Amino acid sequence: MIPRDRPCTAAAGLRHARRAWRIQFTDARASLALAERVLATDGAAAEARAWALLARAFHRMRFSTPADALPEFAAADRAFDDLGDRRGQILAAVGRARCLWMQGRFQASLDVLLPLRDEGLRCLHGDERALLLNGLAGCYSALGQPALAFGTMYQGLREGRGRGSLGFDTVLHCNIAHELLLLGDVDEALRHLDEGLRRSATLRNARLESVLRVNRIAALTDLGRPHDALPDIEHLLALPADASGRGASDAGFETMAIAALRAGETALGLDLVARAEQSEPSPGLPDTRVERAVAQAEALRAQGRGDEALKLLEALRLDEEGLGPRERCMTLRLLADLAESLGDSAGALRWLRACQQVQAERSRLASRARQQAAALQTELQRVERERDEIEARRLESERARLALATLSTQLAQQVERVEALQQELRQQAVRDPLTGLHNRRHLNAVLPAMFALARRDGQPLAAVVIDLDHFKQVNDHHGHLAGDELLAAFGRLLGAGLRRSDVACRYGGEEFCLLLPRTAAPAARRKAAALLRQWRAMRFDLGGGIGGLTFSAGVADTSDAAITEPVDLLRAADAAALRAKRSGRARVLGHDDEPAEAG
Ligand code: GH3
Ligand code: MG
Ligand code: MG
Repeated sequence: MIPRDRPCTAAAGLRHARRAWRIQFTDARASLALAERVLATDGAAAEARAWALLARAFHRMRFSTPADALPEFAAADRAFDDLGDRRGQILAAVGRARCLWMQGRFQASLDVLLPLRDEGLRCLHGDERALLLNGLAGCYSALGQPALAFGTMYQGLREGRGRGSLGFDTVLHCNIAHELLLLGDVDEALRHLDEGLRRSATLRNARLESVLRVNRIAALTDLGRPHDALPDIEHLLALPADASGRGASDAGFETMAIAALRAGETALGLDLVARAEQSEPSPGLPDTRVERAVAQAEALRAQGRGDEALKLLEALRLDEEGLGPRERCMTLRLLADLAESLGDSAGALRWLRACQQVQAERSRLASRARQQAAALQTELQRVERERDEIEARRLESERARLALATLSTQLAQQVERVEALQQELRQQAVRDPLTGLHNRRHLNAVLPAMFALARRDGQPLAAVVIDLDHFKQVNDHHGHLAGDELLAAFGRLLGAGLRRSDVACRYGGEEFCLLLPRTAAPAARRKAAALLRQWRAMRFDLGGGIGGLTFSAGVADTSDAAITEPVDLLRAADAAALRAKRSGRARVLGHDDEPAEAG
């Protein structure tokens, strides 16, 4: 047993509050204790407070009075509103509507519930959905639409029976039985009541058990078996009329009194009528008011005061709005009995005819109930389908969003691949694959611009044409593959030894060309001579070792007056290279150098 009002830790708060809400039907007292504990905790989470307020409000509604519960529901609604929790808000509205209903304000109750119906059916499940449906059903019943009430409750029962049921199905068995009693289907009502009582044996909810028993007493009375109701009466009277028992209001003394009197238990019956008269000065609901009058009339009859009983009942207004057909029938039947016992056969016949009319209306209602229940099922299925469709659409668009994201990633990767490919193609177009140097095509493309730039800047542009010496022999002695390796190595040598602004290209087979901006011929010669020294010094472990390789190079620059076009520059360098070759190879010659000895 959880001690009441002892605060709990903030962390445990939400757990306790949720549990308080969940066990409200199965263990009403523990539910209240948990809710109180959460509400007594300083710094409890807002969500915990909201659920605790809701659980306590429902408890007040059932065990105290609607007037006590209404402010609690308003507080719970505000708390859920702050949290933006629609589910909680709808449940608080369901509670508020039920309080209005208990106060006899049926239309106001329906006005609260109807606008929330579709949203509620979408966002509530199981018992909570059943709670909403039960609230609606109660309004339909009280507003003279028992057929619709029955169908709605039946749907509620289907919801509440599902997995994870919290015990609300017991409430629904009870309410369906009440509706069936109204329609005169008493045997079926009794079956639901017995089922409800069987289930309530596992719950710690005396209030619920007491309502089931009151309805059972009514059913047995209607079946003409008031004796069988006596154990239920005994049971009920043993339950205290407070928050630990059957609750303060709606004790059902009238129903018990009628059964006791009809079973011939006059003393008990009279006592119960007296208790009914004390219990509340003016019963709010027309059914209770009429039932009380019937109980009082039965009491008078049991005391041999039939004429007074007749007068009492004749004074009742049986066309009052909200008065159920069961109570009207019961009154008319008693009126007929009383008239007959007083020797007024004509009067008795008149009351009986009126009673038959109500009976006929009742069976019309009953058959309409079956039809409307079916129609309602269809409508609820439609709402469920809609809900499923919305969910499916949401999933579909989620899937589409994911697919789109994947597609755009793939597209980006593809674009990247294409760009890399294009870059590679561009490189292939201007690069020589063996040496990694630019090719002749590139040279032809950039030379005019470099030439023009040099002219404009008044700076020299040097060209060096290099031809490797005796390269055919290298191939012949060491193989063509070794030759390839050497060409690649020469390419690396040129690439490493030049500036970024220089251009080195493979001119043809074993011929190379360098373009050196802002460089005059003497500097270009020194550069080429350095490259020759490096090349000669290099050793290669290819096919038995290679080394001491040389080249012949010719140098020219644009400062020469004879050079007016880009092609002149290359021709001049080429001519110099040829002279270098002819004059003994392994050397670098300028444009106007005399041939000299090997360097
Ligand atoms: P020199 O220039 O000193 O007069 O003699 P050389 O043997 O270098 O001149 P030649 O013009 O007679 O021969 C050039 C040789 O270069 C012939 C060819 O096999 C070789 N060569 C040209 N391109 C390549 C190539 O891509 N790979 C290989 N392995 N050899 C090449
Ligand atoms: Mg050659
Ligand atoms: Mg050569």
